[in-house]
Amino acid sequence: IQNLSYTVKKTLPFLSKLKYLDKYYSPDVDDGEILQFKNQDDVSMTEKLKEMQRFFGLQETGKADAETLAVMKKPRCGVPDLQPFILTEGNLKWPRNNITYRIVNYTPDLQKSEVDQAIQKAFSVWSKASTLTFKRLSSGVADIMISFKRGDHGDNSPFYGPNEILAHAFPPGDRDGGDIHFDEDELWTMKGRNLFLVAAHEIGHSLGLAHSNDQGALMYPTYSYIEPHLFQLPQDDINGIQTIYGKTDTPAKGPQTPNACDPHLSFDAVATLRGETIFFKGRYFWRKHPEFSVEFYFISHFWPQLSSGIQAAYENFYKDQMYFFKGNKYWVLNDFNLLPGYPQPIYRLGFPKYVKKIDAAFSDLQSGKTYFFVGDKFWRYDEIKQSMDIGYPQKIAQHFKGIGPKIDAAIYENGYIYFFKGAKVVQFDLNSSRVVPPTRRSNSFLNC
Ligand SMILES: [Zn+2]
Ligand SMILES: [Zn+2]
Repeated sequence: IQNLSYTVKKTLPFLSKLKYLDKYYSPDVDDGEILQFKNQDDVSMTEKLKEMQRFFGLQETGKADAETLAVMKKPRCGVPDLQPFILTEGNLKWPRNNITYRIVNYTPDLQKSEVDQAIQKAFSVWSKASTLTFKRLSSGVADIMISFKRGDHGDNSPFYGPNEILAHAFPPGDRDGGDIHFDEDELWTMKGRNLFLVAAHEIGHSLGLAHSNDQGALMYPTYSYIEPHLFQLPQDDINGIQTIYGKTDTPAKGPQTPNACDPHLSFDAVATLRGETIFFKGRYFWRKHPEFSVEFYFISHFWPQLSSGIQAAYENFYKDQMYFFKGNKYWVLNDFNLLPGYPQPIYRLGFPKYVKKIDAAFSDLQSGKTYFFVGDKFWRYDEIKQSMDIGYPQKIAQHFKGIGPKIDAAIYENGYIYFFKGAKVVQFDLNSSRVVPPTRRSNSFLNC
Protein backbone atom coordinates (compact mmCIF):
# COMPACT_ATOMS: atom_id res chain seq x y z
CA ILE A 1 0.00 0.00 0.00
CA GLN A 2 2.99 2.25 -0.24
CA ASN A 3 1.54 4.02 -3.19
CA LEU A 4 -1.82 4.61 -1.55
CA SER A 5 -1.24 8.09 -0.25
CA TYR A 6 0.64 9.23 -3.27
CA THR A 7 -1.41 7.76 -6.05
CA VAL A 8 -2.28 11.03 -7.71
CA LYS A 9 -0.75 10.92 -11.14
CA LYS A 10 1.85 13.46 -11.99
CA THR A 11 0.96 15.10 -15.23
CA LEU A 12 2.60 17.73 -17.33
CA PRO A 13 2.55 20.64 -17.28
CA PHE A 14 2.55 20.39 -13.54
CA LEU A 15 2.53 23.57 -11.51
CA SER A 16 5.94 23.90 -9.91
CA LYS A 17 6.27 24.26 -6.14
CA LEU A 18 6.99 27.94 -6.51
CA LYS A 19 4.01 28.52 -8.71
CA TYR A 20 1.75 26.54 -6.40
CA LEU A 21 2.74 28.66 -3.42
CA ASP A 22 2.54 31.83 -5.41
CA LYS A 23 -0.85 30.99 -6.81
CA TYR A 24 -2.56 29.78 -3.64
CA TYR A 25 -0.47 31.37 -0.88
CA SER A 26 0.43 34.80 -2.19
CA PRO A 27 -0.65 37.35 0.39
CA ASP A 28 -0.80 39.90 -2.45
CA VAL A 29 -3.67 38.24 -4.28
CA ASP A 30 -5.55 41.00 -5.97
CA ASP A 31 -9.28 40.50 -6.50
CA GLY A 32 -8.76 36.79 -6.72
CA GLU A 33 -6.50 37.19 -9.74
CA ILE A 34 -3.27 35.33 -9.87
CA LEU A 35 -0.14 37.44 -9.76
CA GLN A 36 3.21 36.50 -11.21
CA PHE A 37 5.77 35.08 -8.85
CA LYS A 38 7.54 38.08 -7.46
CA ASN A 39 9.67 37.13 -4.53
CA GLN A 40 12.01 34.23 -5.02
CA ASP A 41 14.02 34.44 -1.85
CA ASP A 42 14.10 31.42 0.43
CA VAL A 43 12.58 33.14 3.43
CA SER A 44 9.41 33.90 1.56
CA MET A 45 9.33 30.37 0.16
CA THR A 46 9.75 28.85 3.63
CA GLU A 47 7.05 31.08 5.08
CA LYS A 48 4.62 30.26 2.29
CA LEU A 49 5.34 26.55 2.66
CA LYS A 50 4.61 26.83 6.36
CA GLU A 51 1.42 28.69 5.63
CA MET A 52 0.35 26.00 3.22
CA GLN A 53 1.31 23.22 5.66
CA ARG A 54 -0.70 24.96 8.39
CA PHE A 55 -3.72 25.21 6.12
CA PHE A 56 -3.62 21.52 5.23
CA GLY A 57 -2.82 20.41 8.79
CA LEU A 58 0.63 19.09 7.85
CA GLN A 59 3.74 19.39 9.96
CA GLU A 60 5.03 22.94 9.57
CA THR A 61 8.52 22.08 8.42
CA GLY A 62 8.83 24.88 5.89
CA LYS A 63 10.32 22.25 3.58
CA ALA A 64 8.83 20.67 0.50
CA ASP A 65 8.75 17.19 2.06
CA ALA A 66 7.03 14.17 0.56
CA GLU A 67 3.72 14.81 2.28
CA THR A 68 3.63 18.44 1.24
CA LEU A 69 4.43 17.55 -2.35
CA ALA A 70 1.71 14.90 -2.29
CA VAL A 71 -0.85 17.54 -1.32
CA MET A 72 0.44 19.85 -4.03
CA LYS A 73 -0.18 17.12 -6.59
CA LYS A 74 -3.81 16.65 -5.64
CA PRO A 75 -6.45 17.91 -8.07
CA ARG A 76 -7.95 21.07 -6.62
CA CYS A 77 -9.84 24.29 -7.04
CA GLY A 78 -8.05 27.24 -8.62
CA VAL A 79 -9.13 29.79 -6.03
CA PRO A 80 -6.32 30.81 -3.60
CA ASP A 81 -6.44 29.47 -0.04
CA LEU A 82 -5.48 32.71 1.58
CA GLN A 83 -8.45 34.83 0.63
CA PRO A 84 -9.79 36.63 3.65
CA PHE A 85 -12.52 34.53 5.19
CA ILE A 86 -16.08 35.74 4.96
CA LEU A 87 -16.24 36.90 8.56
CA THR A 88 -13.86 39.79 7.95
CA GLU A 89 -15.18 43.17 7.08
CA GLY A 90 -15.85 44.22 3.53
CA ASN A 91 -16.46 40.72 2.23
CA LEU A 92 -18.42 40.25 -0.88
CA LYS A 93 -21.97 39.00 -0.87
CA TRP A 94 -24.95 39.28 -3.15
CA PRO A 95 -27.15 42.19 -2.11
CA ARG A 96 -30.34 40.12 -2.56
CA ASN A 97 -31.43 36.56 -1.90
CA ASN A 98 -32.85 35.61 -5.30
CA ILE A 99 -29.90 34.83 -7.53
CA THR A 100 -29.89 33.84 -11.19
CA TYR A 101 -27.58 31.48 -13.04
CA ARG A 102 -27.06 30.48 -16.64
CA ILE A 103 -25.24 27.53 -18.17
CA VAL A 104 -23.47 29.25 -21.06
CA ASN A 105 -21.97 26.19 -22.76
CA TYR A 106 -21.72 22.44 -22.26
CA THR A 107 -19.00 19.82 -22.00
CA PRO A 108 -19.09 17.03 -24.59
CA ASP A 109 -18.17 14.62 -21.78
CA LEU A 110 -21.74 14.45 -20.49
CA GLN A 111 -25.22 14.72 -21.87
CA LYS A 112 -26.76 18.16 -21.61
CA SER A 113 -29.44 16.88 -19.28
CA GLU A 114 -26.76 15.42 -16.99
CA VAL A 115 -24.99 18.78 -16.83
CA ASP A 116 -28.29 20.59 -16.13
CA GLN A 117 -29.15 18.14 -13.36
CA ALA A 118 -25.69 18.23 -11.76
CA ILE A 119 -25.71 22.04 -11.68
CA GLN A 120 -29.27 22.23 -10.38
CA LYS A 121 -28.48 19.71 -7.65
CA ALA A 122 -25.36 21.71 -6.74
CA PHE A 123 -27.43 24.88 -6.28
CA SER A 124 -29.99 23.03 -4.20
CA VAL A 125 -27.21 22.09 -1.75
CA TRP A 126 -26.90 25.79 -0.92
CA SER A 127 -30.56 26.78 -1.15
CA LYS A 128 -31.44 24.12 1.43
CA ALA A 129 -28.87 25.50 3.86
CA SER A 130 -29.59 29.20 3.41
CA THR A 131 -32.26 31.77 2.67
CA LEU A 132 -31.08 31.96 -0.96
CA THR A 133 -33.09 30.92 -4.00
CA PHE A 134 -31.69 30.23 -7.45
CA LYS A 135 -33.37 30.68 -10.81
CA ARG A 136 -31.97 29.40 -14.04
CA LEU A 137 -31.96 31.73 -17.07
CA SER A 138 -31.63 30.35 -20.58
CA SER A 139 -30.41 33.61 -22.14
CA GLY A 140 -29.08 37.03 -21.23
CA VAL A 141 -26.83 37.92 -18.34
CA ALA A 142 -27.28 36.02 -15.10
CA ASP A 143 -25.55 36.69 -11.79
CA ILE A 144 -23.65 33.42 -12.04
CA MET A 145 -22.53 32.58 -15.58
CA ILE A 146 -21.32 28.97 -15.82
CA SER A 147 -19.04 27.78 -18.61
CA PHE A 148 -16.48 25.16 -19.60
CA LYS A 149 -13.16 26.63 -20.69
CA ARG A 150 -9.65 25.31 -21.28
CA GLY A 151 -6.07 26.54 -20.91
CA ASP A 152 -5.53 30.26 -20.82
CA HIS A 153 -9.03 31.61 -21.22
CA GLY A 154 -8.54 35.33 -20.73
CA ASP A 155 -9.17 35.88 -17.03
CA ASN A 156 -5.55 35.74 -15.85
CA SER A 157 -6.19 32.38 -14.19
CA PRO A 158 -5.28 29.73 -16.75
CA PHE A 159 -6.10 26.04 -16.44
CA TYR A 160 -3.20 23.58 -16.69
CA GLY A 161 -4.82 20.49 -18.20
CA PRO A 162 -6.28 17.40 -16.53
CA ASN A 163 -5.80 16.56 -12.82
CA GLU A 164 -4.59 20.01 -11.86
CA ILE A 165 -7.07 22.83 -11.38
CA LEU A 166 -10.56 21.47 -11.89
CA ALA A 167 -12.46 24.76 -11.82
CA HIS A 168 -12.52 28.21 -10.32
CA ALA A 169 -15.11 30.82 -9.45
CA PHE A 170 -15.23 34.53 -8.78
CA PRO A 171 -16.67 36.03 -5.60
CA PRO A 172 -20.00 37.90 -5.83
CA GLY A 173 -19.93 41.11 -7.88
CA ASP A 174 -20.62 42.71 -11.25
CA ARG A 175 -19.32 41.46 -14.61
CA ASP A 176 -17.21 38.34 -13.86
CA GLY A 177 -18.44 38.31 -10.26
CA GLY A 178 -19.96 34.97 -9.29
CA ASP A 179 -18.98 33.31 -12.56
CA ILE A 180 -17.80 29.71 -12.61
CA HIS A 181 -15.34 28.15 -15.07
CA PHE A 182 -14.85 24.39 -15.31
CA ASP A 183 -11.70 23.07 -16.99
CA GLU A 184 -12.84 21.43 -20.21
CA ASP A 185 -9.59 19.42 -20.25
CA GLU A 186 -10.91 17.38 -17.33
CA LEU A 187 -12.96 14.33 -18.19
CA TRP A 188 -16.23 15.25 -16.49
CA THR A 189 -18.23 12.26 -15.34
CA MET A 190 -20.99 11.27 -13.01
CA LYS A 191 -18.51 9.04 -11.14
CA GLY A 192 -14.80 9.93 -10.70
CA ARG A 193 -14.48 13.59 -11.63
CA ASN A 194 -17.97 14.36 -10.55
CA LEU A 195 -19.43 17.58 -11.94
CA PHE A 196 -21.99 17.92 -9.16
CA LEU A 197 -19.36 17.86 -6.38
CA VAL A 198 -17.06 20.35 -8.10
CA ALA A 199 -20.00 22.62 -9.00
CA ALA A 200 -21.28 22.62 -5.42
CA HIS A 201 -17.82 23.70 -4.24
CA GLU A 202 -17.49 26.45 -6.85
CA ILE A 203 -20.98 27.80 -6.15
CA GLY A 204 -19.78 28.26 -2.57
CA HIS A 205 -17.19 30.72 -3.93
CA SER A 206 -19.79 32.36 -6.17
CA LEU A 207 -21.79 33.08 -3.03
CA GLY A 208 -18.82 34.55 -1.15
CA LEU A 209 -17.28 31.62 0.72
CA ALA A 210 -13.53 31.16 0.91
CA HIS A 211 -11.63 27.89 1.31
CA SER A 212 -11.95 26.11 4.62
CA ASN A 213 -9.21 24.13 6.34
CA ASP A 214 -11.83 21.72 7.73
CA GLN A 215 -10.84 18.54 5.90
CA GLY A 216 -14.41 17.31 5.72
CA ALA A 217 -15.81 20.60 4.39
CA LEU A 218 -17.10 21.02 0.87
CA MET A 219 -15.01 24.20 0.73
CA TYR A 220 -11.75 22.31 1.39
CA PRO A 221 -9.50 23.17 -1.58
CA THR A 222 -8.62 19.67 -2.81
CA TYR A 223 -11.04 17.34 -4.50
CA SER A 224 -12.45 14.26 -2.75
CA TYR A 225 -14.95 11.92 -4.31
CA ILE A 226 -18.07 11.13 -2.29
CA GLU A 227 -21.04 9.19 -3.63
CA PRO A 228 -23.25 12.08 -4.82
CA HIS A 229 -26.45 10.48 -3.54
CA LEU A 230 -24.88 10.26 -0.07
CA PHE A 231 -23.69 13.86 -0.11
CA GLN A 232 -24.74 16.05 2.80
CA LEU A 233 -23.52 19.63 3.19
CA PRO A 234 -21.10 19.56 6.14
CA GLN A 235 -21.75 21.73 9.18
CA ASP A 236 -18.69 23.88 8.50
CA ASP A 237 -20.16 24.95 5.13
CA ILE A 238 -23.62 25.50 6.64
CA ASN A 239 -22.05 27.76 9.25
CA GLY A 240 -20.22 29.63 6.49
CA ILE A 241 -23.21 30.32 4.27
CA GLN A 242 -25.42 31.25 7.23
CA THR A 243 -22.81 33.68 8.49
CA ILE A 244 -23.11 35.57 5.21
CA TYR A 245 -26.82 35.32 4.45
CA GLY A 246 -28.43 34.54 7.79
CA LYS A 247 -30.01 31.50 9.36
CA THR A 248 -32.86 29.49 7.91
CA ASP A 249 -36.17 29.11 9.78
CA THR A 250 -35.59 25.42 10.36
CA PRO A 251 -32.02 24.95 11.52
CA ALA A 252 -29.92 23.08 8.96
CA LYS A 253 -27.73 20.33 10.35
CA GLY A 254 -24.82 18.69 8.59
CA PRO A 255 -22.10 16.18 9.37
CA GLN A 256 -19.29 17.51 11.53
CA THR A 257 -15.74 16.63 10.76
CA PRO A 258 -14.26 14.81 13.76
CA ASN A 259 -11.26 16.50 15.32
CA ALA A 260 -8.39 14.10 15.97
CA CYS A 261 -7.37 15.98 19.10
CA ASP A 262 -10.84 16.26 20.64
CA PRO A 263 -10.32 14.68 24.10
CA HIS A 264 -13.73 12.97 23.81
CA LEU A 265 -12.94 11.35 20.47
CA SER A 266 -13.97 7.71 20.16
CA PHE A 267 -13.60 5.35 17.20
CA ASP A 268 -16.07 3.10 15.39
CA ALA A 269 -13.41 0.57 14.41
CA VAL A 270 -9.63 0.27 14.40
CA ALA A 271 -7.48 -2.16 12.42
CA THR A 272 -3.84 -2.65 11.63
CA LEU A 273 -2.84 -3.05 8.02
CA ARG A 274 0.70 -3.92 6.98
CA GLY A 275 2.30 -1.94 9.76
CA GLU A 276 -0.13 0.96 9.54
CA THR A 277 -3.13 1.55 11.74
CA ILE A 278 -6.50 2.64 10.40
CA PHE A 279 -9.01 4.41 12.67
CA PHE A 280 -12.62 4.66 11.47
CA LYS A 281 -15.05 7.34 12.56
CA GLY A 282 -18.34 8.10 10.79
CA ARG A 283 -17.64 8.95 7.15
CA TYR A 284 -13.89 9.26 7.74
CA PHE A 285 -10.76 7.41 8.66
CA TRP A 286 -7.30 8.32 9.89
CA ARG A 287 -4.37 6.40 8.57
CA LYS A 288 -1.28 6.25 10.74
CA HIS A 289 1.99 5.18 9.23
CA PRO A 290 4.94 4.80 11.60
CA GLU A 291 7.00 7.22 9.52
CA PHE A 292 4.49 9.66 8.12
CA SER A 293 2.23 11.89 10.11
CA VAL A 294 -1.43 10.96 10.40
CA GLU A 295 -3.52 11.26 7.24
CA PHE A 296 -7.25 11.84 7.15
CA TYR A 297 -9.63 10.64 4.43
CA PHE A 298 -13.24 10.14 3.49
CA ILE A 299 -13.95 6.39 3.57
CA SER A 300 -15.72 6.79 0.24
CA HIS A 301 -12.56 8.29 -1.25
CA PHE A 302 -11.14 4.75 -1.31
CA TRP A 303 -14.22 2.56 -0.95
CA PRO A 304 -17.39 4.22 -2.24
CA GLN A 305 -19.36 1.04 -1.43
CA LEU A 306 -18.62 1.41 2.30
CA SER A 307 -18.98 5.19 2.72
CA SER A 308 -19.71 5.35 6.46
CA GLY A 309 -20.39 3.64 9.74
CA ILE A 310 -17.87 0.76 9.76
CA GLN A 311 -18.48 -1.02 13.08
CA ALA A 312 -15.55 -3.42 13.26
CA ALA A 313 -12.47 -4.23 11.22
CA TYR A 314 -9.44 -6.50 11.53
CA GLU A 315 -6.33 -7.50 9.67
CA ASN A 316 -6.17 -11.13 8.62
CA PHE A 317 -2.42 -11.71 8.83
CA TYR A 318 -2.61 -15.08 7.12
CA LYS A 319 -4.34 -13.91 4.00
CA ASP A 320 -2.91 -10.39 4.07
CA GLN A 321 -6.45 -9.07 3.94
CA MET A 322 -8.61 -6.69 5.89
CA TYR A 323 -12.17 -7.43 6.97
CA PHE A 324 -14.81 -4.72 7.47
CA PHE A 325 -18.06 -5.20 9.36
CA LYS A 326 -21.22 -3.12 9.21
CA GLY A 327 -24.53 -4.47 10.50
CA ASN A 328 -24.78 -8.16 9.62
CA LYS A 329 -22.55 -7.83 6.56
CA TYR A 330 -18.81 -7.97 5.91
CA TRP A 331 -16.43 -6.95 3.16
CA VAL A 332 -12.89 -8.10 2.40
CA LEU A 333 -10.09 -5.89 1.26
CA ASN A 334 -6.96 -7.03 -0.52
CA ASP A 335 -4.19 -4.51 -1.17
CA PHE A 336 -6.62 -1.69 -0.45
CA ASN A 337 -9.09 -2.97 -3.04
CA LEU A 338 -12.46 -4.40 -2.09
CA LEU A 339 -12.81 -7.95 -3.36
CA PRO A 340 -15.73 -8.69 -5.66
CA GLY A 341 -18.56 -10.83 -4.31
CA TYR A 342 -18.98 -8.83 -1.10
CA PRO A 343 -20.72 -7.91 1.14
CA GLN A 344 -21.52 -11.34 2.53
CA PRO A 345 -23.69 -12.06 5.58
CA ILE A 346 -21.70 -12.58 8.81
CA TYR A 347 -23.57 -15.87 9.32
CA ARG A 348 -21.21 -17.39 6.78
CA LEU A 349 -18.48 -17.01 9.40
CA GLY A 350 -20.56 -19.05 11.84
CA PHE A 351 -22.43 -16.42 13.82
CA PRO A 352 -25.93 -17.32 15.04
CA LYS A 353 -28.81 -15.42 13.48
CA TYR A 354 -29.48 -13.33 16.57
CA VAL A 355 -26.16 -11.49 16.09
CA LYS A 356 -27.03 -8.35 14.14
CA LYS A 357 -23.73 -6.51 14.37
CA ILE A 358 -20.12 -6.87 15.52
CA ASP A 359 -18.75 -4.26 17.93
CA ALA A 360 -15.04 -4.99 17.52
CA ALA A 361 -12.63 -7.59 16.19
CA PHE A 362 -8.93 -8.39 16.23
CA SER A 363 -6.81 -11.26 15.03
CA ASP A 364 -3.99 -12.79 17.10
CA LEU A 365 -1.02 -13.25 14.80
CA GLN A 366 0.54 -15.98 16.96
CA SER A 367 -2.43 -18.30 17.39
CA GLY A 368 -4.25 -17.51 14.15
CA LYS A 369 -7.41 -16.88 16.13
CA THR A 370 -9.73 -13.98 15.51
CA TYR A 371 -11.85 -12.57 18.32
CA PHE A 372 -15.22 -10.99 17.65
CA PHE A 373 -16.90 -8.87 20.32
CA VAL A 374 -20.66 -8.50 20.52
CA GLY A 375 -22.19 -6.79 23.58
CA ASP A 376 -20.79 -8.57 26.66
CA LYS A 377 -19.79 -11.73 24.74
CA PHE A 378 -17.12 -12.78 22.29
CA TRP A 379 -16.67 -15.44 19.65
CA ARG A 380 -13.37 -16.98 18.51
CA TYR A 381 -12.70 -17.89 14.89
CA ASP A 382 -9.91 -20.13 13.64
CA GLU A 383 -8.34 -18.52 10.57
CA ILE A 384 -6.49 -21.70 9.62
CA LYS A 385 -9.47 -24.06 9.85
CA GLN A 386 -11.72 -21.24 8.68
CA SER A 387 -14.43 -22.00 11.19
CA MET A 388 -15.78 -20.73 14.47
CA ASP A 389 -14.26 -22.47 17.52
CA ILE A 390 -16.60 -24.62 19.57
CA GLY A 391 -17.67 -23.39 23.00
CA TYR A 392 -18.40 -19.81 22.04
CA PRO A 393 -19.72 -17.24 22.76
CA GLN A 394 -18.10 -16.63 26.12
CA LYS A 395 -18.34 -13.68 28.50
CA ILE A 396 -15.82 -10.92 27.84
CA ALA A 397 -15.54 -10.25 31.58
CA GLN A 398 -14.41 -13.83 32.24
CA HIS A 399 -11.69 -14.10 29.66
CA PHE A 400 -10.57 -10.47 29.43
CA LYS A 401 -10.61 -9.42 33.08
CA GLY A 402 -10.90 -5.68 33.54
CA ILE A 403 -12.17 -5.01 30.04
CA GLY A 404 -15.93 -5.24 30.51
CA PRO A 405 -18.64 -5.02 27.86
CA LYS A 406 -19.28 -2.45 25.11
CA ILE A 407 -16.02 -2.38 23.21
CA ASP A 408 -15.85 0.05 20.28
CA ALA A 409 -12.74 -1.30 18.63
CA ALA A 410 -9.73 -3.55 19.21
CA ILE A 411 -6.33 -4.12 17.65
CA TYR A 412 -3.53 -6.60 18.15
CA GLU A 413 -0.05 -5.10 18.22
CA ASN A 414 3.20 -6.72 19.44
CA GLY A 415 1.52 -9.23 21.72
CA TYR A 416 -0.87 -6.70 23.22
CA ILE A 417 -4.52 -6.07 22.60
CA TYR A 418 -5.67 -2.47 22.69
CA PHE A 419 -9.35 -2.22 23.56
CA PHE A 420 -10.96 1.09 22.59
CA LYS A 421 -13.90 2.05 24.79
CA GLY A 422 -15.21 5.57 24.22
CA ALA A 423 -12.42 8.07 24.69
CA LYS A 424 -10.23 5.52 26.50
CA VAL A 425 -7.99 2.70 25.40
CA VAL A 426 -7.03 -0.20 27.64
CA GLN A 427 -3.90 -2.25 26.95
CA PHE A 428 -4.24 -5.98 27.61
CA ASP A 429 -1.42 -8.51 27.75
CA LEU A 430 -2.66 -11.60 25.94
CA ASN A 431 0.00 -13.89 27.48
CA SER A 432 -0.59 -13.01 31.12
CA SER A 433 -4.29 -12.17 30.53
CA ARG A 434 -3.90 -8.90 32.37
CA VAL A 435 -4.62 -5.23 31.86
CA VAL A 436 -1.42 -3.23 31.57
CA PRO A 437 -1.84 0.20 33.16
CA PRO A 438 -2.10 3.09 32.60
CA THR A 439 -5.24 3.65 30.55
CA ARG A 440 -4.62 6.10 27.71
CA ARG A 441 -6.83 8.45 25.75
CA SER A 442 -7.97 6.89 22.46
CA ASN A 443 -6.63 9.71 20.38
CA SER A 444 -3.12 9.40 21.85
CA PHE A 445 -2.76 7.01 18.91
CA LEU A 446 -3.28 9.96 16.57
CA ASN A 447 -0.29 11.83 18.02
CA CYS A 448 -2.57 14.01 20.14
ZN1 LIG B 1 -12.34 26.45 -4.23
ZN1 LIG C 1 -11.57 31.26 -15.66
